[in-house]
Amino acid sequence: MHESRHVVEMPKIHALQRRHFLLFDVIPLLIVAATPFYWSSLYRGLPELALLFVMWLLTGFGITVGYHRLFTHRSFAASKSVQTVLAVLASMAGQGGVVSWVAIHRLHHEKSDGAGDLHSPNLHGEGFLNKARGLLHSHFLWMGKHPYPNVARYAPDILRAHHLAAVNRRYMWIAAAGLALPAAVGYGIHGDLRGAVSGLYWGGILRLLILEHIIWSINSVLHVCGDRAYQTKENSHNMGALGLLTLGESWHNNHHRFANSPNFGLRWRNLDPGYWVIRALAACGLASDLRLPDADQIAQGSPGS
Ligand SMILES: [Zn+2]
Ligand SMILES: [Zn+2]
Repeated sequence: MHESRHVVEMPKIHALQRRHFLLFDVIPLLIVAATPFYWSSLYRGLPELALLFVMWLLTGFGITVGYHRLFTHRSFAASKSVQTVLAVLASMAGQGGVVSWVAIHRLHHEKSDGAGDLHSPNLHGEGFLNKARGLLHSHFLWMGKHPYPNVARYAPDILRAHHLAAVNRRYMWIAAAGLALPAAVGYGIHGDLRGAVSGLYWGGILRLLILEHIIWSINSVLHVCGDRAYQTKENSHNMGALGLLTLGESWHNNHHRFANSPNFGLRWRNLDPGYWVIRALAACGLASDLRLPDADQIAQGSPGS
């Protein structure tokens, strides 16, 4: 495919999008929504909470540190083995393979809130109903069917990296392993089938759904409301109160202003766990070449930002 094309539209690709949307976005939502009375029966103590928390952290850091800050924006450098681990963890989040995720997100930065942005909440017209439609579209409905970014144009570096292409090819298996792993741990702890089901539910399905909504909210809510520290061309916002929950992703206006920075919080008081992980990796010699903006550039925001 020639790299001059921005997106491609093919029935086969739309069929794959529909399948992925059903498997990873709709079905987990239905399971969690339809089975609230199971929650208590599947909760048997700390192991379930620990599985939810640990799997959320592992896959969440895979997304923000791996897919987003490293592969999409090349905001720091890491060895092939570190890259592979991050790509595998992120694949377990069920948000698409590394090639698609990177291509879609690079397209978002190029077209942000303009024609061609696949998940902008700001392109559906004025009025309450249109705004609500835009929010739902950007939050998750867009994933059911959308133009597919031309990966030869938006992710050629990922396609060329054999270790990442290999993870990408096995994406569905790795995502399934992300569900099988907590089920196996649950079985190992409790020694019965109910333990496996509770592990699958807490560390797999519920965890997947929670992380999805957190990441989707960056696309939807943070392109509508919050604080704007920098006057950027798109309508991105920061929401510092969500810094911990989003592992630093909620500094979205900062991120649009300094897209290549590994530090989204930019200031020490702005909680950004994703950046703490990168700092920890750097301290262990596992990350290098952090592309941090200088203090003068950071200071050019609004007072109190
Ligand atoms: Zn954005
Ligand atoms: Zn980005």
